[in-house]
Amino acid sequence: MGAIEEVLEIVKRRNPGEKEFLQAVAEVMESVRPVIEANKVYQEGRILERIVEPERVVLFRVPWVDDSGGVQVNRGFRVQFNSAIGPYKGGLRFHPSVYLGIIKFLGFEQVFKNSLTTLPMGGGKGGSDFDPKGKSDGEIMHFCQSFMTELCRHIGADCDVPAGDIGVGGREIGYLFGQYKRIANEFTGALTGKKLKWGGSLIRPEAAGYGCIYFAEEMLKTCGESLAGKVCAVSGSGNVAQYTVEKLNQLGAKVVSLSDSHGTIYDEDGITEAKLKFVMDLKNVRRGRIKEYAARHNADYREGKRPWDIPCDCAFPCATENEISGADAATLLKNGCILVSEGANMPSDPQAVHLFVSKRILYGPGKAANAGGVAISGLEMAQNAMRLPWPREEVDRRLRDIMIEIHRQCRVTAEQWGQSGNYVMGANIAGFVKVADAMLDQGVV
Ligand code: NDP
Repeated sequence: MGAIEEVLEIVKRRNPGEKEFLQAVAEVMESVRPVIEANKVYQEGRILERIVEPERVVLFRVPWVDDSGGVQVNRGFRVQFNSAIGPYKGGLRFHPSVYLGIIKFLGFEQVFKNSLTTLPMGGGKGGSDFDPKGKSDGEIMHFCQSFMTELCRHIGADCDVPAGDIGVGGREIGYLFGQYKRIANEFTGALTGKKLKWGGSLIRPEAAGYGCIYFAEEMLKTCGESLAGKVCAVSGSGNVAQYTVEKLNQLGAKVVSLSDSHGTIYDEDGITEAKLKFVMDLKNVRRGRIKEYAARHNADYREGKRPWDIPCDCAFPCATENEISGADAATLLKNGCILVSEGANMPSDPQAVHLFVSKRILYGPGKAANAGGVAISGLEMAQNAMRLPWPREEVDRRLRDIMIEIHRQCRVTAEQWGQSGNYVMGANIAGFVKVADAMLDQGVV
């Protein structure tokens, strides 16, 4: 049995039932196979065995009281996956589907993503099976305060810095930060994604979406193309999806879809700036369903459907993991899609990834394409440490430069290993080597 197969066996045995985690590990292991075979030093140092094992997992009870006085109990998680190149960094997800396997997959991906950003950040992730949908502001606050009462002893500006993810936006970060500050008795950058007036960074809300488009632009440039005039399908309608649409509009593309967990809207005329404003109010203020868009703007609504059968040039999955199946990928290709840039984490399942790579379309995997979110979180940490905010133009310029550099690393690395144009291999290998070398330098820890 080869070194990779042995590690995959161990991971399967040790993490039963954690299918998303196994999926993420299998993809990275397959990509780094030639690097491991060519560099015995990684095998001697048992780097693979160590890199798939989180440094620390915290699992805790989150009791809270709902508006009717009833006691509710949720489960909280923080997985501190790898700190070889910096403090743990990665978001918090509040969604009923959350269990340890989801948080471990996200934390594992985060290790390589953060490595690609060029910033000194390790990888971590956390969250809860708490469902924010339909909860009052008071209930959200009580939950966040209880969650942070436990989490606060495990995080800190130089140790572990959480941010947002699905179900955790500016409102939740506010309640979490308020409770952190109260317990820790210090105003430090222990969380990112904060609002501007109390330590946040300009461009942080936009960063994952804008970055995903900057990455797509770079991919298109390699074949002399641009986004202007391209018909684009976007999934999701949350933070990442909204700013993906905003940037696509600014660059002259036409966005024809958005979705949520209930269905998809198809607007052949395009989701203009004014229509996007409606979506932002609907999702961020009124917290309604995307279905309302269809009635208001005379668009098609497809209950229970995803956008991937809508004809498009470019696709931007920005909702959740495994939202593009192999069959969806085949439909996208059949309809002439030439580019997929992932705003979400691991939105394409293994069959879909295989199709995109083997058909050699421009396919930017999440750990490269959506790294703009965590990159600007890294810049928020830098601004907090200096106690100096940077202007919008400067943060946006840095975001663009970082995305260009991530794109360059992916291309150069893929080429170096004989897989020209394969961004999956490029991202995985470039992310891996930096972390693996740091682990070797630091001894057996
Ligand atoms: P939000 O909570 O703001 O939005 C999530 C969107 O995805 C909503 O429209 C939601 O619909 C939809 N969605 C969530 N779960 C499912 C599901 N199981 N099936 C169908 N639709 C679903 O989250 P974000 O925009 O922040 O995150 C979206 C993706 O981007 C995630 O994969 C996240 O990990 C990734 N990401 C986020 C970053 C960030 O900075 N926020 C950075 C990098 C990546 P509904 O409202 O119905 O649940």
